[in-house]
Amino acid sequence: MITSTAFAGKRYAVLGLARSGAAAVEALLASGAKVTAWDLQEDARGKFEGRVELADPLEKDLTGFDGVIVSPGVPLNTHPIKPHAEKFGVPVIGDIELFALARQDLPPHKVVGITGTNGKSTTTALVHYILEQAGIPSTMGGNIGLPILGQDPLPEGGAYVLELSSYQIDLTRSLDCEAAALLNITPDHLNRYDGFEGYAFSKGRLMAMQSSGQLAVFGGQDTATRAIVAAEQSRRPSGRAVEVDKQALADLQPGWPNLQGPHNLENVAVAIALVEEMGVTRSQWESALPNFTGLGHRMERVTNHEGVLFINDSKATNQASTAPALAAYPPEANGRARIHWIVGGLPKEDGLGECEQHLGNVAAAYTIGEAGPRFAELLEPHVAVHKSELLCEAVRCAVDHAQPGDVILLSPACASFDQFRDYEKRGEHFRQVVAALTGASSEIQQALAEGVDI
Ligand code: ADP
Repeated sequence: MITSTAFAGKRYAVLGLARSGAAAVEALLASGAKVTAWDLQEDARGKFEGRVELADPLEKDLTGFDGVIVSPGVPLNTHPIKPHAEKFGVPVIGDIELFALARQDLPPHKVVGITGTNGKSTTTALVHYILEQAGIPSTMGGNIGLPILGQDPLPEGGAYVLELSSYQIDLTRSLDCEAAALLNITPDHLNRYDGFEGYAFSKGRLMAMQSSGQLAVFGGQDTATRAIVAAEQSRRPSGRAVEVDKQALADLQPGWPNLQGPHNLENVAVAIALVEEMGVTRSQWESALPNFTGLGHRMERVTNHEGVLFINDSKATNQASTAPALAAYPPEANGRARIHWIVGGLPKEDGLGECEQHLGNVAAAYTIGEAGPRFAELLEPHVAVHKSELLCEAVRCAVDHAQPGDVILLSPACASFDQFRDYEKRGEHFRQVVAALTGASSEIQQALAEGVDI
């Protein structure tokens, strides 16, 4: 666990006692702080009985408190905790801010922060992987892995790699990352912000919190990212705000089986800039990249059956993240499109967005879920459409139509909640249906997951 003298004798309220909230309470108590904690669920409160004051901070006079810690799941734009805490001049923060405050007591280390609309988890996992392969002590936290405050401090010379959602950045004030990256900004989560500008501003704060000598790395060419690049370049005259050159790496990409597609070229380019800042050499990252296994549900190669490749990209819950998956499999030399695209679920946005420009790669679309009829309507003028309600029907139908050399791609461009608990359950269901239909042995699936080309 990470503890700090910065919290000794201080008073904090913690609202929400799920994983990161619970870890924050433990870290604060172990650091000698007084804690008031609350969760609507009695079970979650139970484990702190007798060790903290169990009371709802919304009903408390917060005079004298040093902070209210809330989970990133709390919508700050509508929840009453923010105005309530502000009445008493108390900051509303998250566990990442506590981590930032605790850094003074950690052995000498560096922090890498990664944000963006799409690609955060992949890039975070990749940076962590390359650092480990290069022998640099490293751990992942934030929006990925275990709560950062619950983890053991790294030895001297270590690097904490944090995946940060915009919600986590909103709850952070003083995180000065030695290297920070913004991958891209496209519309998402707009229900939590006053429009797109508010969302983009939130992402940009990760860079704005850095001191001007630290490194800021930018991936995408979208307008919102470019605006932040311009602001950061004028704030960092030393040239420490850099845009990556993806094309310079394109020749190497065929050697990275689990990092295919233009989006992954962006992720790799950003990761390389970050790890080089941590002291990794070119030969170290070059030898690490081919062996990166990737994360489940993100362009995950499930199996290759009778020449048909099955890809699980269930994590693609918006059009901007599906578009690069469609771009990743161009037509055959004779112009025949290869992708059998399973699309639909709970819609987040209307239209086809960036997916439209890659429809030339699509042999047929198989629509599912609540958004299915709408996608069918949008796609019918461009490609063959097979309407299925359920994912299993869609996979079966795609298997019937696919030829050797084709790709059956689940990249739904929608949230999963109309039919599944989350995107992971949707992806697991896809894997199971594929296994049942193809009879692929678990060894083959394991080998593919590990990046062995078969
Ligand atoms: P995040 O953690 O930001 O949600 P992930 O790495 O989990 O990102 O990827 C989410 C989805 O976005 C996946 O479907 C993936 O294929 C796609 N994706 C990954 N990187 C990018 C990128 N740089 N640009 C656009 N889409 C991406």
